[in-house]
Amino acid sequence: MTKNKAKSDSFVTEITPQSQDFSRWYLDVVRRAELADYSPVKGCMVIRPYGYAIWELIQQALDREFKRTGHLNAYFPLFIPESLLTREAEHVEGFAPQVAYVTHGGGEELEEKLVVRPTSEAIFGTMYAKWIQSWRDLPILLNQWANVVRWEKVTRPFLRTTEFLWQEGHTAHETFEEAEAETRMILDLYASVSEDVLAMPVVKGIKSESEKFAGALRTYSIEALMGDGRALQAGTSHNLGQNFAKAFDITFQARDKSVQHVWGTSWGVSTRLVGAVIMTHGDDSGLMLPPAVAPYQVVVVPIGRDNWRETVLPHAREIEAQLSRAGIRVTLDDRDERPGWKFSEWELRGVPVRLEIGPKDIEKSQVVVVRRDSREKASLPMEALPQAVGALLEDIQHAMLDRALKFREERTQRLETYDAFKQAMEGRPGFAIAPWCGSTDCEAQIKVDTQATIRNMPIDGEVPSNPCVRCGKPAQAEAWFAKSY
Ligand SMILES: [Zn+2]
Repeated sequence: MTKNKAKSDSFVTEITPQSQDFSRWYLDVVRRAELADYSPVKGCMVIRPYGYAIWELIQQALDREFKRTGHLNAYFPLFIPESLLTREAEHVEGFAPQVAYVTHGGGEELEEKLVVRPTSEAIFGTMYAKWIQSWRDLPILLNQWANVVRWEKVTRPFLRTTEFLWQEGHTAHETFEEAEAETRMILDLYASVSEDVLAMPVVKGIKSESEKFAGALRTYSIEALMGDGRALQAGTSHNLGQNFAKAFDITFQARDKSVQHVWGTSWGVSTRLVGAVIMTHGDDSGLMLPPAVAPYQVVVVPIGRDNWRETVLPHAREIEAQLSRAGIRVTLDDRDERPGWKFSEWELRGVPVRLEIGPKDIEKSQVVVVRRDSREKASLPMEALPQAVGALLEDIQHAMLDRALKFREERTQRLETYDAFKQAMEGRPGFAIAPWCGSTDCEAQIKVDTQATIRNMPIDGEVPSNPCVRCGKPAQAEAWFAKSY
């Protein structure tokens, strides 16, 4: 008992307040909510069951959408011969500093070094060259769920780790227009899953030349604003043009019998999204999960005196069974701990709804319900409880998106002068929308001066009439700037 007492007293105070140190807060939440842990391999993380359950829910939501839009899952090897990676010049240059190699196998030095995949364009391209002969073979719409390795110097659980989990889509098409439509369709798909499932508003747009994927023609991204005002790139979709088709000789006989190169796309989101959920919604009490990705949407906590196991627990079990039958993810906390201790723990782990039931509630045939997001407390009649809880979960899902959207709007400013821009980036951070001339040098200087980078630019956006925020030359686009992860 004394051990538990000590645990309860230190429970919430173990989380650093966000206002004091946001990145410390993040690491505290990851550890205390048992989402992930450091591993013996530097830069690699162990995703613990609670963190993995969140990832599985994100994965299932995405997988449904990929399949609905005609994609099939496949699996390609972890190892890629070095000579394949080096075929696309920009691609190899972009990835070379982060590549891990296998040089020995079966006790012998390998004739050719193998790359541990940092991404799979090279191996998909090689196979597509074999599989595609005619326009009748197109489009090919494949996705794989896999791990990738990118050697990182500075790592942070979920946000940047040497090995991470993701999905990578790779498609091949007859025309540029089809590839572009696919790239944009996936961008829209990522945005709607972010908003509808993660309750995380995102800004969709196109990346500047300096920020695009190594080897792509165009990169589009979704960008989200985290609780500390920094942006997080949450997903990317690339129109590869014919770059990889030319490097890997992926040709087909077209409808007019001419031989042409295919047009490619690739796109991915990763376990980084778990980090995005933590930093979009969490507060000083810990994690706050949108119901759609909460491993437990509801926790039932029995309240009572010494004999609660005989008097209250059977009722609590009945509630658990009812909710579970209605398809609600529910857990019953019947441990021998004080209710107050349990409340803090489940708040810390971000469970959207807590149901409390005690002897008085049983008499009145009701339960006490507490929302994690607003902390509102109310009573619900026991009758038709699953329907009421289902409606409440939907309400929470929407309220969390609204709250995050409001936060982003408060932290987004339109700026026309460089002084105002610099000041905005020094103070309260967030998004700054400003006209930009399109010059890479100008973009680089802005980064030196303010640490802010162009996150993306609206697709088909109008050319602003005001000049570039830094150099005063005519603007080419309106860019969304932010300090980023
Ligand atoms: Zn400029």
